[in-house]
Amino acid sequence: MTDRYAVFGNPIGHSKSPRIHAAFAEQTGESLRYEAIEAPRSDFAGAWRAFVAAGGKGANVTVPFKQEAFALAEVLSPRARLAGAVNTLMVGRDGRLYGDTTDGVGLVRDLEAHAAPLRSARVLLLGAGGASRGVIEPLLEAGAGSLTIANRTVAKAEELAVLFAGKGEVSGCGFDDVAGPFDLVINATSASLTGDLPPLPDDLFAADGLAYDMMYAAEPTVFLRWAAERGARTVDGLGMLIEQAAESFWLWRQVRPETAPLREILRREL
Ligand code: NDP
Repeated sequence: MTDRYAVFGNPIGHSKSPRIHAAFAEQTGESLRYEAIEAPRSDFAGAWRAFVAAGGKGANVTVPFKQEAFALAEVLSPRARLAGAVNTLMVGRDGRLYGDTTDGVGLVRDLEAHAAPLRSARVLLLGAGGASRGVIEPLLEAGAGSLTIANRTVAKAEELAVLFAGKGEVSGCGFDDVAGPFDLVINATSASLTGDLPPLPDDLFAADGLAYDMMYAAEPTVFLRWAAERGARTVDGLGMLIEQAAESFWLWRQVRPETAPLREILRREL
């Protein structure tokens, strides 16, 4: 029987994950089926159990179920535990449910693919939601010299700074207190979804600074347009999406797909 995988979310119609994993399966010759499942908001656990009963081996999990997947997993990877969220589930050979998160690895791989400043870099992370929390440790491990977390709700940025204080030079503040210059500014807010721009100072970027928006679209986001006008190099989150998928694929199949060809294909399809 062909192994089954899926992405769970609500809504999920827009998801590119089935397209990405079908391409990975074709490229690597792995025999698997990958579908999008819209779980009811009130019963993610029930939808997951039904999937496993029907032969499901693993899944990606997206908004709004990453915390529920975290709670459901019987064995958590250290990075999932730190992120407080699970975006990858897999049924182990021992029958137990394993939870991991690949978003942070995905971001760092994409930053590396774009030769982003990372080692000793002054990094500003905008937002203190799930996506932000999941990338803090991977950014520090990749060599970030300092990490400033800025958020609309200041207390959330400060809480994250305290949580990760032992991992590196991390601080939290509101947008009003952001003081550059930064080598790398990552927008992990959902402001771009509504075309909003966090209020930021004009002199945010160092020379050769890079602006990264976790959101992606056919056109540059308002944050990336603003950054380009201030001389920054700009990258959107399409590569992060592909890289986190590749890491999930590797966790499930122990085969690492090539991501470069898919980057170009998906970019053309946006
Ligand atoms: P959450 O809902 O957990 O957090 C949202 C964050 O955005 C909060 O910090 C919130 O601030 C802030 N925010 C929302 N609206 C505004 C606004 N108008 N102005 C300023 N700040 C705002 O979302 P996630 O962390 O899960 O996701 C954040 C973004 O990252 C989304 O756009 C998502 O699509 C993207 N993402 C992309 C991935 C990829 O692979 N490319 C992977 C994961 C996420 P407050 O605390 O004050 O409410």
